[in-house]
Amino acid sequence: MSLPTAERLLKVKETIRRLESRYQRPVGSVRLLAVSKKKSVREITLAANAGQRDFGESYLQEALEKIALMKQQDLNWHFIGPIQKNKTRQIAKHFSWVHSIERLIVAERLSTQRPDHLPPLQVCLQVNIDQESSKSGIQCEQIPSLASALEGLPNLKLRGLMAIPRQSNDIIHQRLHFAQLRVLLEQLNRSGFRLDTLSMGMSGDLEAAIAEGATMVRIGTAIFGTRTTK
Ligand SMILES: *Cc1c(COP(=O)(O)O)cnc(C)c1O
Repeated sequence: MSLPTAERLLKVKETIRRLESRYQRPVGSVRLLAVSKKKSVREITLAANAGQRDFGESYLQEALEKIALMKQQDLNWHFIGPIQKNKTRQIAKHFSWVHSIERLIVAERLSTQRPDHLPPLQVCLQVNIDQESSKSGIQCEQIPSLASALEGLPNLKLRGLMAIPRQSNDIIHQRLHFAQLRVLLEQLNRSGFRLDTLSMGMSGDLEAAIAEGATMVRIGTAIFGTRTTK
């Protein structure tokens, strides 16, 4: 009944291209992060064989097992889940990107623990743009000081902002939240930062995110199907 992974991936890529054009975004300006949490190496391999390079994971132990098994393939792993202080060493060692920075101590440890032979870890600050729902992410007022502190860390490269807004089926509401994140990034850039990444948009709010300037969308369900919760 459901389409194979490679076909769903292709459909998501086509949707992204269509939305780029509908909202006057440059072709190729939205990068697709395939969120593979709770999905098997077999399923990730199907997507990788279909050309997907960027994969997002939220649970460290599970991610490390998959990364080890898929070492031969040249993939970029993005950490998008909450980070405990004692997990930073493995994240610094095995990931290219971290989207979920919320605390300076975590950022400092990631920078210190980043192995010398790897390029700087690419990071985003996770922002709580609608306080009501999620407990994750920093408040808007905290962004400038944390961003400045991160700029001083040698083995991190601050790329931009990430958010997971409250779920809504209303594209107007979705766009309002994403527009807030875009404005926050613009404010940082006006004050001297040079940030190029808005990590926003999931399977249910992809269109709103692209309309408001997402440069990286994090898509799980639309590529891999629904996740079975443990
Ligand atoms: C699970 C997850 C996604 C993907 O969500 P879908 O609705 O399955 O597309 C995106 N971002 C984060 C941070 C996630 O944890």
